[in-house]
Amino acid sequence: MELHQYYQAIVTRDRRFDGRFFVGVKSTGIYCRPICRSRRPLLKHCEFFRLAAAAEAAGFRPCLRCRPELAPGQAPIDSADRLTLAAVKQIEAGALTDGNVGNLAQSLGVSDRHLRRVLLANLGVTPIQLAQTQRLLLAKQLLTDTNLSMIDVAFASGFSSLRRFNALFRQRYRIAPSRLRAKPSKNREDTSCSCRLPYRTPFDWESLLSFFSRRMFAGIEEIENGQYRRTVQIGKHQGWIAVENDSANHVLRLEVSVTLLPVLMDVRARVRRLFDLDADPETIASHLGDLVNGHSGLRVPGAFDGFEMAIRAILGQQISVSAASTFAARLTRKFGKSIQTPFPDLTHLAPTAKALATADVDEFLSLGITRARAKSVQSMAQAVLTGAISLDVAVSIETALNQLKALPGIGDWTAHYFAMRIFGWPDAFPHSDLGILKALNTTKPREALARAESWRPWRAYAAIHLWKTLEKPVAPTGPTEPRRSRTSPAKPWRSRNLPNVKPNYARALLLPNRGGRQIAGRRQLAASDTN
Ligand SMILES: [Zn+2]
Repeated sequence: MELHQYYQAIVTRDRRFDGRFFVGVKSTGIYCRPICRSRRPLLKHCEFFRLAAAAEAAGFRPCLRCRPELAPGQAPIDSADRLTLAAVKQIEAGALTDGNVGNLAQSLGVSDRHLRRVLLANLGVTPIQLAQTQRLLLAKQLLTDTNLSMIDVAFASGFSSLRRFNALFRQRYRIAPSRLRAKPSKNREDTSCSCRLPYRTPFDWESLLSFFSRRMFAGIEEIENGQYRRTVQIGKHQGWIAVENDSANHVLRLEVSVTLLPVLMDVRARVRRLFDLDADPETIASHLGDLVNGHSGLRVPGAFDGFEMAIRAILGQQISVSAASTFAARLTRKFGKSIQTPFPDLTHLAPTAKALATADVDEFLSLGITRARAKSVQSMAQAVLTGAISLDVAVSIETALNQLKALPGIGDWTAHYFAMRIFGWPDAFPHSDLGILKALNTTKPREALARAESWRPWRAYAAIHLWKTLEKPVAPTGPTEPRRSRTSPAKPWRSRNLPNVKPNYARALLLPNRGGRQIAGRRQLAASDTN
């Protein structure tokens, strides 16, 4: 982008550029989002940065008005650069909180010099600078939005001590952390705290919930009143989260039990991945063209925990959705540890790789799970337990696919499905999927693959759109009076959040698919539903 284009974006406060760059104002030393309501700076005072961390490394402090920590997608990175992307994701998840750059580099399969060089070249910051900015911005959000105690804020945002937190905060932001407190810190008895996770619009929350609701792990996850909830175990930390959509403010509201505060960065990163919050729907829609058909808010459903999702998918192979759910529930009761939560139906933690790997095969058979499926589950558990496979991060997607396919019961379809949901690989495409073949009106996987060529590098989104075309229409077919369908209380997909959706988009959601490929019946839905 040229200088005058950046400037034009801030003059018009164009929301499309929010999170894509930040503007540092040399006369004030403050950096802002392009949408900031403060008085517009003169061009000669502006310096533009792609990342908040780069603005901070250049000595700018975050604006207290537009709050850079609430910009969507902190790292607008070319998805082709897997190493940078993987490093940013790992740092966002707190990889530099307990570990050092050397360990991070090793987990990504490169030397730390190489990692530093790549990050500096692509982002203009070192791994440490990136981590520091992320910690400070998270602390800033928690100070402003929650009543957590100062020490909880420090640890939750990844600082190793209150002293270091105070020192870095004052040095960088030239203000005492306590000055940002909106509410007095109180009640250590509070059992949860909440924070915001921004996204780019349009964002189709309903479709994500409906996708997840068909693939629940009963006892571990639930969806109620438009809220997604689940139990969580990360390392030795256990607790629960609840997520809901605040569509008016373009954020998800994440409520976290205080027991998970030490791993808050990781929890936030996982929720972002689960709901695909870093996606750039406009870019994707313009690339996919007609396929989008009014559903430009669709996201690729991710995974909160790669191992858990993999097990759920294996259990679902070649059986109906309801049978898969039954087996998942039995598996949870048998192998998952129980946990207390405020929600009566959230009773268990997901079975760990260790519990499944060391179980006797007869224990699976007693649950009605076939021997072949049990073998597949146990091999996956063993591979994760020994570290032969990582379901957290994949720098080389080809290597990850090959490792997965080496396991029993993991074919090409499953490997691509995992790449899509676990590794968030935007170009994954399970081309032999029955639903995808149906939607493309062909029986030949090779033909589907050829058709998908033009959707690169967003084929995972293309797959989601193809599956969408198979769903039952969300409103009655035939001539429909839009206003009536919008206010009808009987529709199960309706939620209290819907009226806040942008008008055009809401209409696209509510009306039957217009023209083109039409919506088959329940049977096709079931076909791609077993995934
Ligand atoms: Zn500002």
